[in-house]
Amino acid sequence: MKPAVLRKYLSSRGPAPNLGDYAATRAGFSWALARSELDGLPRGGLNIAHEALDRHLARRRGDKLALRWLGKDGTVRDFTYADLARHTNRFANVLRAAGIGKGDTVFTLLGRVPELYISALGTLKNGSVVSPLFSVFGPEPVQTRMQRGEAKALVTTRHLYERKVAPWRVQLPSLRHVFLIDGTEGSLPADTVSLAAAMAAASDSFDIVHTAAEDIALLHFTSGTTGRPKGAIHVHEAVVAHHITAKYALDLHADDIFWCTADPGWVTGTSYGIIAPLTIGTTMIVDEADFDAERWYDILRRERVNVWYTAPTAIRMLMRAGAEIVKPGTLDTVRFMASVGEPLNPEAVIWSAKTLGQPFHDNWWQTETGGIMIANFASQDIKIGSMGRPLPGIEAAIVDRDGDTLRTIAEPMKSGELALKAGWPSMFRGYLHEEERYRKNFVDGWYLTGDLAMRDLDGYFWFVGRGDDVIKSAGHLIGPFEVESALMEHPAVSEAAVIGIPDPVAGETVKAFLALNPGYEASEALRKELLGHARKRLGPAVAPKEIAFRADLPKTRSGKIMRRLLKARELGLPEGDTSTLESDEK
Ligand code: AMP
Repeated sequence: MKPAVLRKYLSSRGPAPNLGDYAATRAGFSWALARSELDGLPRGGLNIAHEALDRHLARRRGDKLALRWLGKDGTVRDFTYADLARHTNRFANVLRAAGIGKGDTVFTLLGRVPELYISALGTLKNGSVVSPLFSVFGPEPVQTRMQRGEAKALVTTRHLYERKVAPWRVQLPSLRHVFLIDGTEGSLPADTVSLAAAMAAASDSFDIVHTAAEDIALLHFTSGTTGRPKGAIHVHEAVVAHHITAKYALDLHADDIFWCTADPGWVTGTSYGIIAPLTIGTTMIVDEADFDAERWYDILRRERVNVWYTAPTAIRMLMRAGAEIVKPGTLDTVRFMASVGEPLNPEAVIWSAKTLGQPFHDNWWQTETGGIMIANFASQDIKIGSMGRPLPGIEAAIVDRDGDTLRTIAEPMKSGELALKAGWPSMFRGYLHEEERYRKNFVDGWYLTGDLAMRDLDGYFWFVGRGDDVIKSAGHLIGPFEVESALMEHPAVSEAAVIGIPDPVAGETVKAFLALNPGYEASEALRKELLGHARKRLGPAVAPKEIAFRADLPKTRSGKIMRRLLKARELGLPEGDTSTLESDEK
């Protein structure tokens, strides 16, 4: 393993970082203290939507801009905290009038439109459970999720309803109400209601339903890179972690303009694209449009974004788009940039520092953890290629699991399973209808993440790969991330995915699938050059033996490369669940 590169990249812009002294903050931290930064409901209990919205009104911050929505067609709509509080009250009243109550699940199947944000928070006010789905899901993944979640209500558009829900609706008798955000009354499909009309008739005041910290609030389905998506259950107490992790890991301050590019169909787009920034009182930018490099740079500049949270897949697309389109002044207001969802290849950190003038800070978490667990912080050195250090309140370790016992691996840079001491507020409380599967993740009071990682002497964690993706070749344990990162250092390579191919001698050999940057053509000569490059960088035991070129790599809707699928296709095995594939759009 090459030695870690240490770089200091402290931003001189804006307020001092929230986590000035990592060690001292960790030492003085308690979740009770974090909880005391929030208010709780006036008559006891805890409700995410109250912390996100109404609490600010009580403090006379209702006039502050909470959400600026940028429509695909250039429309801009602004919502203050008071506006959002009113709209969400109306939505909660609509649910109540429809007989949808505490614990009932409300699904959204919407693009990033204001109604999505209003429905999600209004649902929480009503004590109901919200489950946001990607609008690009096909009918099958929509149906399985809504059936498993026993949907009581759905908020969607007429078009999405007719294409993706109406054909199978009779099979879901629990779905009593479908609210359509478009279409006028009188011309709506049978058994649907106009949301606008229902909202117009509803009162804009609402007494938030009493919810306790442990009441269920959110149902999130995992991305499904390695198997059937699971429904992770989260409770209202999660808001304590959303709030404090956004402060520490994203360095969010109340005066910030924050842009989380994730869709709420993925947990990042809910925890940090709806809840956390509102609890802090920031202004969030929501862009309805799909990725477009020039549009994104334009948004950063025009909206004067201070903190930007995105994902490696988008960063790789920005890299592919080239530096020429970054106009002067694009990042003048940006103070902090972070990335999550997949390993952030060193190449991407170096590129951002050079081209954008500041680096992306990688952080790690998963649907089950509900919030950021490990991060490179604004005030701390970045170790390029590392996911950073655990948040205050989070204890992380590298372990070896042997049935019902755990052994902690103390040796630095030795890989094992990443484990987290159970008990932080946003920890999932179950997999929907899969109690046994849930319990299997816990051993000796530790939550086992299923990811392999290493820890260095300074306490930084290094991602090796998902447990299911790791390759065992001739006695070596090979993490795809290391191989992919080395391949990405080559200027021809835009994206890389590495899998193990069964081999009678070595057990497995390494095969790489590569997408190329503009200006490069797949050829035998390039294949040889890349094999040579990898051998030089990684040594023959770890370097790929085979390379295949692909125009695109298969990804989930949240942008994660599906190595499992590449492997199944390569070996002619059943593809398993592909419902979260990006190409579900069809
Ligand atoms: P999901 O729950 O669908 O968001 O997927 C979570 C998984 O994404 C984690 O278990 C990791 O395998 C991967 N992941 C998320 N963030 C990172 C990161 N910063 N580095 C490496 N892998 C990551």
